[in-house]
Amino acid sequence: MVQRASAVSQATEQTIFQCNYCHYTDYAPVINNIRDWEYGVTGSYDYYQCSHCEGVQLNPFPNLEDLKLAYDIDYHGYAEGQKRGLLFSALYAAKEKLFRRHMRKFVNPSSKVLDVGCGAGDFLDNMQSLGVSRLEGIDFSQEMIDKLNARGITGHCGTFPQFDAEFQSYDLISMNNYLEHTLTPVQELEKSFDLLRCGGHLVGEVPGFDSWERRLFGRYWGGNHVPRHTYQFNTDFLYKILQSAGYQDIQISHQLNTGHWALSVQNFLQRKAPDLKHNPAISSGRSRVYVPMLLLFIPINIFCVLMRKSGCIKFTAQKPLANSDHD
Ligand SMILES: [Zn+2]
Repeated sequence: MVQRASAVSQATEQTIFQCNYCHYTDYAPVINNIRDWEYGVTGSYDYYQCSHCEGVQLNPFPNLEDLKLAYDIDYHGYAEGQKRGLLFSALYAAKEKLFRRHMRKFVNPSSKVLDVGCGAGDFLDNMQSLGVSRLEGIDFSQEMIDKLNARGITGHCGTFPQFDAEFQSYDLISMNNYLEHTLTPVQELEKSFDLLRCGGHLVGEVPGFDSWERRLFGRYWGGNHVPRHTYQFNTDFLYKILQSAGYQDIQISHQLNTGHWALSVQNFLQRKAPDLKHNPAISSGRSRVYVPMLLLFIPINIFCVLMRKSGCIKFTAQKPLANSDHD
């Protein structure tokens, strides 16, 4: 059995590692003593890499109740669209415009779309502005789902493994910044495969664990985001689990996204804050240095993208037109 530990109560207890992918117990520690410098959720965490399958997972590994507690905060993912000044708004608008352009090739007005881990619903709002009306989102925050329903988008409160949907009913499923947050990524990729119609697409984004920024900042890397990031992925491992779920035409690309760079600097500066949970320098997990750092790191981030060492990986994958058996 994998030892479970509370995201808010664990600290020093002895843990026994078992890989959640292949169940081997041999591992290599990759990063130690990571804390939640953004929101101050209690605990010290490590990332372990399985020596057998090379999957990377958080240790101690939370259960669902622990994980829900780790989001019971002023979480930025539940507050997108918030005001962080003109500069942030301009950067955010530019990013969203590029994203909509990218998504046009996957949807048309009659497409049925599901966003898994929809948070505040930014992805679905983008789909709506592309003229898509059959939109659904799923998230375990009732507050987010209520807001989604209030603006005419079908929201489902719960987790994706609990979600009961019609087989082969969606044209597009989105898992943007989702797989690294979940407890069962492989099973959920398989479920997304089952829920897509033949020829439908899965799109998503995860932090790039092989990135230079992760190697540079280590425990302060913004992509750690513990204990909410339960798993980490590099491109090869992501490809492997998408393929084993049955997907084909898998495209994985490195993205320009300076968010983790900015957060890494913020984490480093906040590492000695006396009370992370009530840190006056932080609002919705972000400090004043965050937005200027987004701009400052653009040149180096472009270089990382060109060298395929960016901290943000985007993926698209297609369910084969003729459904084939998969494990
Ligand atoms: Zn393993």
